Amino acid sequence: MQEVKEGIKENPNPKKEENNNSQKPDFVKWFSELNKNSVDTAGGKGANLAEIYNLKIPVPPGFVVTAQAYDYFIEKAGIKETGIVTNGTLLDEKTAEKLIISEILDTVIFSIDGREENHDFLRGGKGVFEKAVNGLNILSQIKRKLKRRRPRIYVYMTLYRENIKDMEYVFNIALKSNANMLRYQTSSHITKRIITRLPDRFQAGFFHSYAGREKPLSRVEIEEIRENYLKILERSKKHAIKTEAEEIIKSGVNKKCLFVGKDFVIDSSGEILPCPMLPNVSIGSLIEKSVEEIFSGQKNFILELKKISESGKLSVCGQCCVEKQSKHVAEDKGQPLF
Ligand code: SF4
Repeated sequence: MQEVKEGIKENPNPKKEENNNSQKPDFVKWFSELNKNSVDTAGGKGANLAEIYNLKIPVPPGFVVTAQAYDYFIEKAGIKETGIVTNGTLLDEKTAEKLIISEILDTVIFSIDGREENHDFLRGGKGVFEKAVNGLNILSQIKRKLKRRRPRIYVYMTLYRENIKDMEYVFNIALKSNANMLRYQTSSHITKRIITRLPDRFQAGFFHSYAGREKPLSRVEIEEIRENYLKILERSKKHAIKTEAEEIIKSGVNKKCLFVGKDFVIDSSGEILPCPMLPNVSIGSLIEKSVEEIFSGQKNFILELKKISESGKLSVCGQCCVEKQSKHVAEDKGQPLF
């Protein structure tokens, strides 16, 4: 024990606990920088040990490898995680407890699209806001009660013309519920006119639900969203929540599709889908041909899909998870399919 005391020197300039979203996270924290409320950073054991240390009970100086270091490693290593998206409807205390204890999920995503009236309007029904926020709070409270770090809780806000002014409101909900991350993304806007201007084969890919809203977000609205986002990002740096946004919000640039031509989905009937968001666009059936045959016969079609996506004309890209995973894929040394 004496050796440990002498071997580990306390950090002479401990920083106050903070979360800097734009930089690398703190990989380690000294006990003196933590306390019993640092569960999100140090986990239950780390936070308790830090509390004991700070009460001057004889504990050798030490440090904790932070939860943020773990997240950073997972992201950089390109490790895929298991997660679900929920509207909170079935999430009561019992279910939340089972879910947390089972440790089967890394992330749970809640969609909150603004104030109650806006969320209910955009998500199609009275009471859906209340259910989503209740579910979020229940999961968060039980997680704290059980002193667990997993699953991480993410809040996603999809931006429409109607809820741009609610961005900070949703940030406050995410903050209050101790969510690990809040992500802003733009809504999918696809009109019949846009659909008919796409090549025939892509037209079949859109569900009816994507058609309807006649006007996509304008440049001015995207700019307003961006300004709101930057202010919120500044605020979030003072708290233990990561704030993220789709590329078009952060830089005004359309995302680069990193899925099409590299990955594919096989649906339950054996059809190969080049894009997970276009479930009706198949490039061939595995029951009839091999993967190689299908891809070599459809090379031009796939390249065309990629081009349309990157030109910003494919509105479904706005809600696609590919961007979220782009950092992992960029590190991936795997070869494209052709
Ligand atoms: S929705 Fe867009 S970004 Fe996502 S995989 Fe399909 S084409 Fe690529």
